[in-house]
Formats: sequence, structure tokens, C-alpha cells
Amino acid sequence: MRQMHELTRRRFTQSAAIASMGTLLSACATVGTRSSTASGCTPLAPVNVDAGRVIRTVAGLRPYRASGFVVRREQLGDKALVHNYGHGGGGITLSWGTSRLATNLGLPGHSGPVAVLGAGAVGLTTARQVQEAGFPVTIYAKALPPHTTSNIAGGQIETAYLYKDDSVTPEWRAQLLAAMDYSWRRWQIMVGDEYGIRWLPTYEETQLSGSNPMDSYYPATKVLSRAEHPFPLDTVVRFETMYVETGHFLRQTMRDISIAGGKFEVRDFPSAQAIASLPETLVFNCTGLGSRDLFQDADLHPLKGQLAILLPQPEVRYALSGGPGYMFPRADGIILGGTAERDVWDPNPDPATISRLIARHKAFFSGFRCMA
Ligand SMILES: Cc1cc2nc3c(=O)[nH]c(=O)nc-3n(C[C@H](O)[C@H](O)[C@H](O)COP(=O)(O)OP(=O)(O)OC[C@H]3O[C@@H](n4cnc5c(N)ncnc54)[C@H](O)[C@@H]3O)c2cc1C
Repeated sequence: MRQMHELTRRRFTQSAAIASMGTLLSACATVGTRSSTASGCTPLAPVNVDAGRVIRTVAGLRPYRASGFVVRREQLGDKALVHNYGHGGGGITLSWGTSRLATNLGLPGHSGPVAVLGAGAVGLTTARQVQEAGFPVTIYAKALPPHTTSNIAGGQIETAYLYKDDSVTPEWRAQLLAAMDYSWRRWQIMVGDEYGIRWLPTYEETQLSGSNPMDSYYPATKVLSRAEHPFPLDTVVRFETMYVETGHFLRQTMRDISIAGGKFEVRDFPSAQAIASLPETLVFNCTGLGSRDLFQDADLHPLKGQLAILLPQPEVRYALSGGPGYMFPRADGIILGGTAERDVWDPNPDPATISRLIARHKAFFSGFRCMA
């Protein structure tokens, strides 16, 4: 069974090592020697990494909780309030699934319009499922796409920086699996150009030591020998997963919500008391990191991630996790990432970190080995 490596996104799903971050996930391993880039002796096209090919840089604050996302119902005055926030680095992946759990908690027995707070991936997927169940919905958010954290996300369907292994309960683990199960199926039926979602083979630096309950979601998994991959890495596993061009998906989902009669209202809620003025009696809280102040959730921390996006390279039809960080090829650019800084609130990319990110990926992709 495939295992997690400390340098991969998946390893950091459960990692206690988050506090040690601040720069890149890993150093690039240096086991390869002969570069294959010039001779083309690998079927995988190397990414052409160069500072001159960067088309934009972005940063976002992942809503990280060591004890995992919150999906819970409570009473707020005369309203039913269902929380759905705190997805760390897995909020695109899990959005459909935790929204399913949340609507299952909120909708039975309810009648009348519904409010959703937040217009990131979690708020929009909650709103769609409210509509699919036949209820009118209004989304209230202080920022709409493209100005949400969800728009920043790389969009790999795989969780990362989601929780700390010794901080979660068995009940929460059951919620995680239920959420993943629904998400995994829901993303599949949306694959295609309409929502900007596609399957890609993914190469992940790994260690063979233990198992992960998520492994069953990643088909066609194979541990590769060094002869079977060109990367300057020791142990590599290949599997298939989906990639979401997040801006595209969020735009299309807003369109779906509007076509089905949903309303959007830009509004900043300074406190939980402000929610009391809403006309709806059922409210879903999908405010991500905003829940820290709104509901005094001190367990919620920003985990800053930075990305450099290169000119698109359509010939790159695989993704990479680990090694120099990660690389996801999308129609809107090649996403280079792999940084995490806890409790950093500055939402702007830092030029020095971006330079290191580019340098590591450049060294990595120019170090491809020839395959036999
Ligand atoms: C660099 C980076 C890469 C990532 N890559 C991936 C990936 O590959 N795969 C993956 O699954 N996840 C990834 N993530 C994580 C993902 O982006 C988050 O988990 C996800 O965006 C959380 O979604 P959300 O809807 O909860 O929050 P947001 O997108 O932050 O949306 C929150 C909404 O609530 C609103 N709001 C907040 N406070 C208030 C308030 N007081 N009043 C009114 N409205 C409010 C905001 O305006 C916004 O509309 C990545 C994140 C980063 C930063």
C-alpha cells in the first residue's frame, strides 16, 4: 500500500511538523545525474522553469485547525446554525463532502429560505446542495470569487495540511471519510471543460512506511523503480487523481447558483450577533478563516501558502507532489507551490520565498534522468 512521505502534500495531511515550516516543504533530492532534458529521453515533458516565464504570483491563508474541520449544528437565538469551516489545505477536495454533511444536519425538518455565509468553495458547494434539495438560498459574503482563498488553491483532489494526527477524535475521522467519499464521487461526475476538472497521473515522492485511510481513493497506484521515472528522487509512487482549475470551477458554480435563482449579497459580518438580523432561520457558516473572529475559534490558524504560476505548457500532462514542492499543470498556468507558514497573516507573496520556490523547481526539472 502506498505510504506518505514527509515531503509530500499528503504526508502533511496528518503532519505534526507544520510548526517547523515557513519555507518550502523539502529540499530537492539529488540522486539523479545525467540530464535528459536535451535528449528528450523520457516520456514526461520537463517543466520549463525560469523567472522570466512567471505570469503571476499569489498567496493565500489556509484555514487550518489541528483538530480538523468543523461540521456541527447549534442554536443561535431563533436560528439553526450549521458550521462548515476549517478545511486547511483540503478545502477544495472536501468541499462537496463536508457541505453534504452540513446540509444533512441542517435541512431535514426545515422550511423556507436558507442563508449561506461565505462564497468560497465551501459556501458555494453548500449553496448548490441547498438548492438541489429544493430550498431558496442567499449567499452573504464579504468577498466573492475571484477574491477568496479558494481562488488561490492549486486544486489537487488530495488533502494536505488538514489536521494533526494526535488532535482528532474517532468521530471526526469518520466525518472525514464520509466527506471524502461524497467529494470523490461528486468531482468525478463534473470532470470536463465545463468546470475545468481533469484526471492526471501524479508522481509523488514517498516513503514506504505505514498506511493511509485515503489510499483507497487514489486508483492505479504503483510504486515505481528508478528505471520507471526520470525524477531526481529515490522513491516515487504514481497514482491518478483529479485537478480543479479553481477560478474556473468557482465561476461556473456561481453561474449554476444564479441560474437556479440563488442570490448573492456582499456583506461583512463583524460578529455572530450580526447574523441575528438575517431573515433566514437556517444559516450555514462557511466563512473559512473568518470563523476565527466571528465565532472566537482560537484553534483556527492561518497557514500561508505561496504560488508562482508559469506560462501554460499544454504538453505537461502529469503532476508532481514532493521533491521541490509541487507542480500542477493547469490551462491557466503551471502552478508551482509547496510552502506553508503558520500564523502568518500577510496575504501577499513574498519575493524571496517565491525566488526560492522557482530556484528549487528549476533545479529539479533540469535534473531529469534518462529512462532506460
Ligand atoms: C496556496 C494554496 C494552495 C492550496 N491548494 C489546495 C489544493 O490543491 N487542494 C485543496 O483541496 N485545497 C487547497 N488549498 C486549500 C483551500 O484553498 C482552502 O481549504 C479553501 O479555499 C477553504 O475554502 P472556504 O470556502 O472555507 O474559505 P474561503 O475560500 O476563504 O471563503 C470564505 C468566504 O467567507 C467569507 N467571509 C469570511 N469572513 C466573513 C465575515 N466575517 N463576513 C462575511 N463573509 C465572510 C469570505 O469573504 C469568503 O467569501 C490551498 C490553499 C492555498 C492557500
